[in-house]
Amino acid sequence: MPSTTTIIIGGGVIGLSTAYHLARKHFGRIIVLEKGPVGDGSSSRAAGIITGLLWSKTGVLARKLSLARYRELSDELPGYRFHDVGCLNLFDPADWPEREALLPLYDRLGAPYEILSAAEIRKRWPELTPVDEIIGLFDPLGGYSEPEEYVPALAAKCRELGVEIREQTQVNGFLTRNGAIAGVDTASGIVEGDAVICTVHTWMLQLMETLDRPLPMKAFVHQRYVTAPLPAPLHIPAVNANPQGGYIRPALGNRVLAGGETAWREEFRTPSLDFRMTELAVPPAVGAALTTNMTPLLPILAQTGWESEKVGLIAFSLDGEPILGPVQGLPGLYLGCAFHSGGFAYNPAAGFLLAEYVTSGQTSLDVMAFSPNRFAPGPTAEYLAATVIQADAVRRRH
Ligand SMILES: Cc1cc2nc3c(=O)[nH]c(=O)nc-3n(C[C@H](O)[C@H](O)[C@H](O)COP(=O)(O)OP(=O)(O)OC[C@H]3O[C@@H](n4cnc5c(N)ncnc54)[C@H](O)[C@@H]3O)c2cc1C
Repeated sequence: MPSTTTIIIGGGVIGLSTAYHLARKHFGRIIVLEKGPVGDGSSSRAAGIITGLLWSKTGVLARKLSLARYRELSDELPGYRFHDVGCLNLFDPADWPEREALLPLYDRLGAPYEILSAAEIRKRWPELTPVDEIIGLFDPLGGYSEPEEYVPALAAKCRELGVEIREQTQVNGFLTRNGAIAGVDTASGIVEGDAVICTVHTWMLQLMETLDRPLPMKAFVHQRYVTAPLPAPLHIPAVNANPQGGYIRPALGNRVLAGGETAWREEFRTPSLDFRMTELAVPPAVGAALTTNMTPLLPILAQTGWESEKVGLIAFSLDGEPILGPVQGLPGLYLGCAFHSGGFAYNPAAGFLLAEYVTSGQTSLDVMAFSPNRFAPGPTAEYLAATVIQADAVRRRH
C-alpha cells in the first residue's frame, strides 16, 4: 500500500465516487473533507436520471462506463439499486435532425438505442401520451438512481473501505510548496496531502480564486418535484422530455418525480464558501408551470399534486462539457466539476477516471476533451464577466 495521502474536497457524488475508486485500489490514506453533511450540495437534490446517448464521443464513452458501473454498484452497495427502466429521450421534429446526426456515433461506439414513433411510445407505455409528431430515442441501458438511496450507500461503502470522511470541515484555501499543491487549509488547521482532488461543484470558482485560477463556469438554480403517492406503480421509463423542457420518472412509493428548465432564469453566483443550497428557493409558480407542461405527456399527473420540492444548482462550462483532470502548472491538483445537469449520471465514471489520474497519471479513456486546461484566459475572463440567462448558456440535459 503506498504511503500517500489523497485529499478530496467535497462529499457529493463526484467526491465520494473518487474516494470509493481510490479505496478500491488501496491507494494509501484517503480523506474526504465536506463542509456540511455528506450530500449537502446538488447530489441529494438530483433527479438521478442517466442516459448513455450524449452528444460527444468522450461523453458517450464515459457514460458507457457509468452505466456499467451503476449495475455493478447495485450488487456492491447495500440499500442501493439502479432502476434499469431505460431512458426515453423525446424530440420534436425541429430538434430531431441534430440528434439524428449522432446516430452513426452511437453505432460506432456501441451505444444501443431504438427510434420510436409517438404511436409506438403510447403502445409500449400507455401512461405516456406524446402527440403524433414527437420522435423518441430510447436508451435501453438508461434509467435512474434515487439519491436518497445512492448517496448514503456510497458514503457507507467508502467508510467501510477505510476512507476518512470529515463532515463540517470547510476548506478555505490550498497549501502550496515549491509550486506544487501540498494540502489544504481548513478552519481546524492545515491538512497535508500528496494530491488534492477538488469536487466542490459551484463553490469551485471561490476556491480556485484563492489560486488565481478562474474557470469559465456558470451556475443556475434548478428544481425538481415529487408527487403524493398514486394508487398504483407507474410503468414508464425515465423520460427526458425535451419538447416540454423537462423530465419525468417513477419515484419511490408509487410517486412521480419531475423537473424542468427555467430558461428565463439568470445565472446564480455562489456568494461565498459558506453558502449552502438550503438557502435557495423558487417561486410556487415554477411548480405550477411544470404541472401544466407535463400533464399532456403524463395525464395521471392531474390526479395528484407535488408533495415535495428540492432546489439545487447545475453548472455549465463555456463549451458545455465537464471539467475533469489535472491542472497544468499546479502539480498535485485535480478538478471534477461543471457536469451540466448530468453530474449524477457521470459520477461512477468521473470518480473512476479521477482515481486513475491520481494513481497512474493517465486514464484508460481519452478524456482530453474534459481537460481543465482547455480554456484560454481571454474567453474565460469574457465568459465570467458576462451575465447570462439559462437559455443562453450551453444547454445539456442529463
Ligand atoms: C434539481 C436537480 C436535478 C438534477 N437532476 C439530475 C439528473 O437527473 N441526472 C444527473 O445526472 N444530474 C442531475 N443533476 C445534477 C447533479 O445533481 C450534479 O451534477 C451533481 O450532483 C454534482 O455532484 P458534485 O459532487 O459535483 O456536487 P455536490 O453534490 O454539490 O457536492 C459538492 C460538495 O462540496 C461541498 N463543498 C463545497 N465547498 C466546500 C469547501 N470549501 N470545503 C469542503 N466542502 C465543500 C458541498 O457542501 C457539497 O456537498 C440535478 C441537479 C439538480 C439541482
